[in-house]
Amino acid sequence: MRAAGTTGSGATVVCQRLVHIYQSSGEVVALSGVDLHIGAGEMLALVGPSGSGKSTLVAVLAGLLRPSAGRVFVGDQELTKLPPARLAALRGRTIGIVLQGADRNLLPYLTLERNIWLAQRPAAGLPGRRLDPPGRILELVGLAGAGRRRIDELAPGERQRAALAQGLAANPGLLLVDEPTSQLDRSGRDEVLAALKTINAEQGTTVVVVTHDGEVGTRLGRAVTIRDGRVGAEGRDGRDYAVLAADGTIQLPPETLAGFAPGTLFTVDHTADGVTLRPRDPDGG
Ligand code: ADP
Ligand code: MG
Repeated sequence: MRAAGTTGSGATVVCQRLVHIYQSSGEVVALSGVDLHIGAGEMLALVGPSGSGKSTLVAVLAGLLRPSAGRVFVGDQELTKLPPARLAALRGRTIGIVLQGADRNLLPYLTLERNIWLAQRPAAGLPGRRLDPPGRILELVGLAGAGRRRIDELAPGERQRAALAQGLAANPGLLLVDEPTSQLDRSGRDEVLAALKTINAEQGTTVVVVTHDGEVGTRLGRAVTIRDGRVGAEGRDGRDYAVLAADGTIQLPPETLAGFAPGTLFTVDHTADGVTLRPRDPDGG
């Protein structure tokens, strides 16, 4: 049995009014009020156009970036309150990160087993922590028996799954994966998706996948669209929904927005089964 909380079993993730502003040459508002709840053991895709804030959100969830405002919880820890050393420790033990581009996660001249061993070191010897042997982790990602192969001998799809194995090595409660299928053909993508589903089903890991690929989002079951630094919409089991934010706002779908100028006035009418928005007639009606 695994220890309760954030070790091994899936971690709950909560973002409350998350804001991030990059201060480089001028200010860039990358996140402008993200509210998000991800249940323990849930699997979710973050989708959305380039520049919408997906990677920034993942960096905040990973504890790699401190947000300008708002709160983030992973398991029972509030990341936004932890001092740097405790944040680094949490990253090594509770949060698995798979960066975009498989090779950035791996040492190419070492074997798969050795890469996993290195990734397990931050969590090794922690009280109550049972680490899976590398062979078991490789089995989860569909690379059983490949432990002695060097990373630079693997095909692209295998490398991406090796990167997942590395992210999984310390048995994290939360696995964050940035664009795992972007450089793969269809069969490589299917293998990565299968590996993610196996990890989630067998380890109970909470899995967050950033993807450009709408189909990946659909196949993971829950797809949250990030638009202009906010949660714009959410797809669940093939249906699209608008999402009510904590500040009372709802983003309309782009195709709806295209029909109205900014500043358009609407009446909000309550009906028996919901709410209707009606634009004011510009001729005074
Ligand atoms: P996505 O991953 O959805 O493409 P990002 O989170 O990378 O989006 O970027 C969101 C916004 O923040 C973009 O406008 C991007 O140009 C800007 N941005 C990202 N990283 C930095 C940075 N280090 N410094 C300044 N601006 C940045
Ligand atoms: Mg990105």
